[in-house]
Amino acid sequence: MNETHHPRVHQVFPAAGTGQRFGQPHPKQYTQLAGKTLLEWTLDAWIGLPFKGERLLVLSGDDAVGQELARRYPGLRCVEGGAERADSVLAGLTAMNVADDDWVMVHDIARPCVRQTDILALLAHCQTEGQGALLARPLTDTIKRNQAGRVSTVDRSQLWAAMTPQCFRYGVLRKALTLGLAEAIALTDEASAMEWLAEPVGLVSGAADNIKVTHPDDLALVAFYLKQQGRLSSN
Ligand code: C5P
Repeated sequence: MNETHHPRVHQVFPAAGTGQRFGQPHPKQYTQLAGKTLLEWTLDAWIGLPFKGERLLVLSGDDAVGQELARRYPGLRCVEGGAERADSVLAGLTAMNVADDDWVMVHDIARPCVRQTDILALLAHCQTEGQGALLARPLTDTIKRNQAGRVSTVDRSQLWAAMTPQCFRYGVLRKALTLGLAEAIALTDEASAMEWLAEPVGLVSGAADNIKVTHPDDLALVAFYLKQQGRLSSN
């Protein structure tokens, strides 16, 4: 690293999942909403952000639809993903040629309503603190544990629901995912790999409308939020 080095900001969009819970023959990111696929709604949410780094879309190997749609986004490169989300994100990181202290923003392709103000707040937090973080929401529901039929209430005062984007430095995120996968640790997001490596992780409170599309019912909510945000016309 030399004195003129400024960490860049890169984007990785994991989109290699099959979306089995969505119950459609095609992956959920190709569901149409008001003339666009969910994948496009999500990628469009990032247009105009002042990031100069690499942009990767991680697709399953035979995904010609994704490759075709990706051509609409200048500079967006397609990479083949893996069996689990962590494999896919690591495949994306492995395909990048960037500095270890650069920032990588990883964002689910299934979260089309993310707000640019939240993305920028997350990055500002990481840059100020010098450590990675993720968008998340404190839990508001009363939370129950069901242990073989014995139901109890969990103290939710310290509980947050993790969202994306998740933003970490390239070098340590790649190391955490590589080692975690080698040890067969359950890595459901990038932060869980960092936590496993005992690296600090910050939580940045994000808007509630940054939902992950999981079931077909979620689409009506996405349309509502996009209208509220002024991204989709109300007519
Ligand atoms: O299945 P779920 O919605 O939790 O997946 C979250 C994100 O991770 C989605 O954008 C999905 O496409 C991606 N993913 C992936 N590779 C996998 C599994 C999931 O890129 N093997």
